[in-house]
Amino acid sequence: MRVTEEIKSRLDIVDIVSDYLPLRKSGRSFSGFCPFHQNTRTPAFYVFPETQTWHCFGACAEGGDLFSFVMKKEGWDFKEALAKLASKAGVELEPFNPVNKKKQATEDKMAALLAAAADYFHMLFLHAPQAEAARNYVAQRALNEETIAVFKLGYALQSWNACRTHFQDQGYSDSELLAAGLLTENPDKGTRYDRFRNRLMIPIRDVNGRIAGFGARTLEKDGIPKYLNSPQTKLFNKSHLLFGLDGAKRHIREARQVVIVEGYMDVMQGWQAGFRNMAAQMGTALTEAQLRQLKRYTKRFVLALDADAAGQKATMRGLQVARETLDREVEVKFDARGLVQHEGRLQADIRIVTLPEGNDPDKIIRTDSAQWLQLLAQAQPVVAYVIDMATRDLDMTDAKAKTAVAQQVLPLIKDIVDPVERDHYWQALARALRVDERALRQIQVQEKPRVYSHPAMPPPPPSLSELEMPPPSQSGKIVRRISDGRMAAGKREANYLSQCLHHPQIMPQVNQRLAQNQQPPVNASDFTAAEDRLLLQQMVRWREGRAVASIDELCDSLDEALNERVQSLLALSPTPESELDRLADKLALSVLNWRQEKIGQLVGEVKQLFRKEQALDNTDAREMYEKLNEWTLAVLRIHKAKSAMSAVSRRKAEDLGNGRF
Ligand SMILES: [Zn+2]
Repeated sequence: MRVTEEIKSRLDIVDIVSDYLPLRKSGRSFSGFCPFHQNTRTPAFYVFPETQTWHCFGACAEGGDLFSFVMKKEGWDFKEALAKLASKAGVELEPFNPVNKKKQATEDKMAALLAAAADYFHMLFLHAPQAEAARNYVAQRALNEETIAVFKLGYALQSWNACRTHFQDQGYSDSELLAAGLLTENPDKGTRYDRFRNRLMIPIRDVNGRIAGFGARTLEKDGIPKYLNSPQTKLFNKSHLLFGLDGAKRHIREARQVVIVEGYMDVMQGWQAGFRNMAAQMGTALTEAQLRQLKRYTKRFVLALDADAAGQKATMRGLQVARETLDREVEVKFDARGLVQHEGRLQADIRIVTLPEGNDPDKIIRTDSAQWLQLLAQAQPVVAYVIDMATRDLDMTDAKAKTAVAQQVLPLIKDIVDPVERDHYWQALARALRVDERALRQIQVQEKPRVYSHPAMPPPPPSLSELEMPPPSQSGKIVRRISDGRMAAGKREANYLSQCLHHPQIMPQVNQRLAQNQQPPVNASDFTAAEDRLLLQQMVRWREGRAVASIDELCDSLDEALNERVQSLLALSPTPESELDRLADKLALSVLNWRQEKIGQLVGEVKQLFRKEQALDNTDAREMYEKLNEWTLAVLRIHKAKSAMSAVSRRKAEDLGNGRF
């Protein structure tokens, strides 16, 4: 099996897409709001489990397979998508080439080194006399033996080269130690020394429990920095990792909520006290990558912010002050607008809890765990929280100050995706500012009207039954007919690519026949599989402006994964050179057939949707209606083109026959 097929056979597109947006069952498909365009009323995005494909029936009018979905959503190229999905599917990718093979081996070796380093630091923590201060510090924080063991707390000696020597003796080179972030280099003098010295070592694991780096706390009074992290390495990426997630994920799922805190100690303290659905963001604002990872386990996030970061400074006013004083740190820690946008994109529920001045979760959990639970229960939605903070000390007689607050909060409200929720905050802000909501809405000079009223729906599209479209009501029957059709379509796509690889000169000939019948040339969107789309694009480029194009030339320009596809396509037997004219006719007709089938399937889906959905007087539905009309016309045109082509073929065959006799 080709590697892309292997991956597709192991993953379910419904699961993967569900990581990004909620889907609901809708007949034999799943529907949701399109993640690629503004889509809030009628779900325009469909996933078809049978064919493992997706399609947006709204503004995007685009679709594809699992690969094209993640490529579009994550901005990955095919290679990245392949690597990510392969690891998700547990498919081992054959290294593309010796360079990549070496890269993988380097990463594995780095992981092994970091694991060994964690063991080394842990042993020192437990047994070294020099680790007394570290042990005292941990005892002060009331962490018990079990917690120390679970998190594998460690100690780095007060030395410039203890760690370096230890691992050199085990065969690791300086460059490996540098790459793993255990060693550091003075750029001026070129000297190398242990990065972590006299620090409490806290291993940071990725979601699968593999050690990716360390957080290291100083044990010296007023030591700077208080926490020293591993540098960015192949395995350590702060904006993707969350401390404690590997151990917390099961508990997050059970508790249906994750509590996001700032510090390692908070997570460990929580763990020890039985609050195990906690993870720490490690000093940066939450990134979408982090939230996405968490979203596999829950849709509900509670951010517990320190009073100093959250309180005054976290308000919009505070952010402005922070910017003025160039206090970047505060600016990035709490990004309310970013959170609201994440919330909308991820369809998540993000809440904020502020801790009492001078307290962190660690301290509260240690001293009064009932209070911790109470605080969590009081968590507020982001916008409510910002309104609260921004108006808390507001002088209600100062009109200008009120306008300023309104202007700061309004962008947040505008970003809210859900219309009911949005309306709720319009009212809430008006109340908090003690102004009329209508006045507030007038500040909104830039906001586009969101609720469209439009005249009656366009007339329903003409019936397609005369075009031999399967009637959408007899579902059992259609399933078979459609999927047969699709398998045939898949084969037709493969046949087209295969023939064009064998006979590149046929590509313009097929396009010419299509053009003669007012049909667009064969293009990437004619293909279902992401790799076929890429392959076609490469083939078009390969063919452009050349009389002769060799397969080797094409293969040189392709990734290994596409090369594999080319080889399997070349294995299909070519049509003899003598029959190329007929082949061009056949392929052009074949293209039209599969185009018609694909549109037919889409039409069937949309019609089914319209039968089910009651409230159709909105923009999304209107868009779909228009699309339906468009497709209907497209099918009529294809039908016409097919008739014309068939007539030409018949005439040619007759001429040929006449010639023979
Ligand atoms: Zn869309």
